[in-house]
Amino acid sequence: MNAIVSVNELTRVFDVSKPWLNRVLERLPKSHLTAVSDVSFDIKEKTVYSLVGESGSGKSTIGKMVVGLLENSSGAVEVSGVDLNQETDAVAIARARDAIQMIFQDPYASMNPRWRVRDIIAEPVAAKGGETKELAERLLEQVGLSAEDADKFPHEFSGGQRQRICIARSLASQPRLIVCDEPTSALDVSVQAQVLNLMSDLKDDLGLTYLFISHDLTVVRHISDRIGVLYLGRLVEEAAPDDLFEAPKHPYTQMLLAAAPKMDAFGREVEPPQGEIPDPINPPSGCAFHPRCPIATAQCSQVRPQMRNINGSRVACHLAE
Ligand code: SF4
Ligand code: MG
Repeated sequence: MNAIVSVNELTRVFDVSKPWLNRVLERLPKSHLTAVSDVSFDIKEKTVYSLVGESGSGKSTIGKMVVGLLENSSGAVEVSGVDLNQETDAVAIARARDAIQMIFQDPYASMNPRWRVRDIIAEPVAAKGGETKELAERLLEQVGLSAEDADKFPHEFSGGQRQRICIARSLASQPRLIVCDEPTSALDVSVQAQVLNLMSDLKDDLGLTYLFISHDLTVVRHISDRIGVLYLGRLVEEAAPDDLFEAPKHPYTQMLLAAAPKMDAFGREVEPPQGEIPDPINPPSGCAFHPRCPIATAQCSQVRPQMRNINGSRVACHLAE
């Protein structure tokens, strides 16, 4: 199977210095936040790749760079062989962009409340002068709503139904890849499962590929083919879901899994791991996880661990085996 997405040594640095303060103090050095640092991964066609991490781990930033909403500082993102930052042929760029869609956490925020659902769904196609007759009706039925819903307005729907409308809109331009940024985290747990099932069915029926972004490992377990775990903008482990859940190799993944609410054999809640996420503007040296890592050695604070392949997983830890 070919990779539809190929991310290579992707890095994104933001300038977060306060301009007025710099002007007042003149010599103040600029401050930079490395939101994504040297991240590499491939997504095979017709699979689901999930990126998981705490807030500030860089997952949404990577998602935006993959769709071309944000430029990278260095490295490369290729989607179907096109690097949106490098490509100069407008036709190739337009074609590549059509093939990628994004779904966000808050479906309501990405809809014009004054538009009928018909126009919301057809907009990506109408904007390019494409044929939109019956398009909304057909897509509404595909996402489990009814053709009559096309004449309603967004406020007439529940949160789960609105996310279905957003999914319908994302399908309008017949994409091959959909980047889903926390698409179910604003929904009730029971509705979450329905939307995830829908997404999974659509993927199979339409041959889609998903990059799925979530802060919650348990949400992505059953829909993913591969899961990448991010910590402070770095990919620390990537594995198939069962390997990740049954034998996590990176101490941070182990900590994340232990943090999921758990009972011990006596029905008492197990204490979640301690420690704060460090300041991303001044990330720790060496392995960024070393201040929180229970097994860190002297080497860990000095040398950044490289990704290594271990039994089908990829792990960035000096001590993993
Ligand atoms: Fe812990 Fe060292 Fe591995 Fe980092 S490299 S996770 S500090 S053991
Ligand atoms: Mg986010």
